[in-house]
Amino acid sequence: MSQTSGTIVGVNGNMITVEFEGAVGQNEVGYACLGDLRLMCEIVRIRGNRSDMQVFEDTSGLSVGDPVDFTGELLSVELGPGLLTQIYDGLQNPLPQLAEQCGFFLQRGTYFNALDREATWAFTPTAAVGDKVTAGEELGSVPEGIFKHRIMVPFRVSGTCTVESVAAAGGFTIEESIATLKDEHGNTFDVTMLQRWPVKVPILAYRERLRPTEPLVTKIRIIDTFFPVARGGTYCIPGPFGAGKTVLQQLTSRHADVDIVVVAACGERAGEVVETLREFPELSDPRTGKSLMDRTIIICNTSSMPVAAREASVYTGVTLATYYRQMGLNVLMLADSTSRWAQALRETSGRLEEIPGEEAFPAYLESVIASFYERGGVVTLKDGSTGSVTIGGTVSPAGGNFDEPVTQGTLKVVGAFHGLSRARSDARRYPAIDPLESWSKYESVVDAESVEVGREILRRGNDIGQMMKVVGEEGTSQDDFVLYLKSEYIDGTYLQQDAFDPVDGATAAERQHYVYGVMTGFLKASLQLEDKGAARRFFHQLTQTTRDWNRAEMGSEEFKEIQGRLEQMVAEVTVNA
Ligand code: ADP
Ligand code: MG
Repeated sequence: MSQTSGTIVGVNGNMITVEFEGAVGQNEVGYACLGDLRLMCEIVRIRGNRSDMQVFEDTSGLSVGDPVDFTGELLSVELGPGLLTQIYDGLQNPLPQLAEQCGFFLQRGTYFNALDREATWAFTPTAAVGDKVTAGEELGSVPEGIFKHRIMVPFRVSGTCTVESVAAAGGFTIEESIATLKDEHGNTFDVTMLQRWPVKVPILAYRERLRPTEPLVTKIRIIDTFFPVARGGTYCIPGPFGAGKTVLQQLTSRHADVDIVVVAACGERAGEVVETLREFPELSDPRTGKSLMDRTIIICNTSSMPVAAREASVYTGVTLATYYRQMGLNVLMLADSTSRWAQALRETSGRLEEIPGEEAFPAYLESVIASFYERGGVVTLKDGSTGSVTIGGTVSPAGGNFDEPVTQGTLKVVGAFHGLSRARSDARRYPAIDPLESWSKYESVVDAESVEVGREILRRGNDIGQMMKVVGEEGTSQDDFVLYLKSEYIDGTYLQQDAFDPVDGATAAERQHYVYGVMTGFLKASLQLEDKGAARRFFHQLTQTTRDWNRAEMGSEEFKEIQGRLEQMVAEVTVNA
């Protein structure tokens, strides 16, 4: 640890300028001392013997002449068993504990251990004396919820070490030694279950980074069939306020085929964060029937925290997500909303008087966004298993206008785009993902050719619908009218999904495959419908019946019976070729 200390020579909002003697580094953490209060801060710029530091706390009362202690450490998080089920703030203070001690909101200068020091964990060794190990390799494991939590050689260890001793099976706290290793220089050191890692530094203790190809099934049809996400891939959900971004992220948290979910909630307003805190623990896990929190970590910004902590929260989240990836698990990291995070960058940059880019965001905004999404990925670990971090971020552009720096910067780097439309959410067409604007570079759960059939009908149906607004139904040909109704039919029965129905709310990949196949058959049929009235009646009935079908368990008698009726209905009006 460095012994550097300094003195405040300037205060500007949450930014302080500190004159120091000795050596300090970029992103090093320090504490500004205000009497007995120690306020955490981070170096964002160094010039000569002066550093600009952003304070993670309210700076009122801080003044020129107050001392600052530097720690020699980068902003880091604690990694170890006990992270699951936790609700943290951006600096990894456990929120429920904070709530007990300080009322709901954080008191300045109060920091807690992220992980319980007293709890004991049932350790089982896997490494043996004499084994050669490197960073990230398994020494043993403890059960954590339904998972095997790997206790690994700390990621910061460099080179190959020899296992000198390893604990026998038994209960240990996270600070007790579970192994002794000897490094290449002959130095011996203890390993505990607790390790620290700087949040802005990616964890590279793996063998190989792979291309994300395997679909990450979310059970949301419009996503999996039309705009899929891959395991280890990245996607973004831009949308205006109230269009359903947060609800969509909650649905994905519940139903996505991943082991662990990490949510970084950067509230648009204080109330929304409280909502997340209240609603999330009530969600049940369809896999276990128990609380979804059992395999979730939430990082939340309290409204009392300044922008710097908001900026930290997405890094804290992705670091925790990556830690579980290192255990061979599939993790989904959700950031809601990245616009709040970008605003924090803008504010900091403004205080530093940097030359602003578009809309006063810093000129390096895009590279910061890119390096965040870059932390997603699927990797082969050193033991040959694979682990993944999939990143989904919402963007909340003012007025829902996607032509702004955060949305555009994100679209350049992500693999899929789920654009929410105000028109759709106003019409209560949920999820409000716009089927014409959205895209994905990943592979669908159904074959590409059938996806194209649906997509083409949606495109043409939309064109006809637009035209019809001008020329009216009378000015539209019968064929075009039927095509329009076909597109409304896919929309109303396949793209839209009732989140509250136990069956319709989550559609497994096999079911999507099957149902979409049957529906594509209907869409391809040439229908003989006398006039527009007959066409309208036919599609109305087909839609209602298909919605009933969506609510029936696949393979049940009811499911088969309804399918029979649907096929009969279509057959009756199909022109035989
Ligand atoms: P955003 O995060 O984009 O501001 P929310 O996700 O909070 O918007 O959604 C706002 C409201 O819209 C919700 O409270 C809910 O009433 C409605 N809503 C959003 N998505 C759905 C959905 N899939 N099904 C039903 N209602 C929804
Ligand atoms: Mg929201």
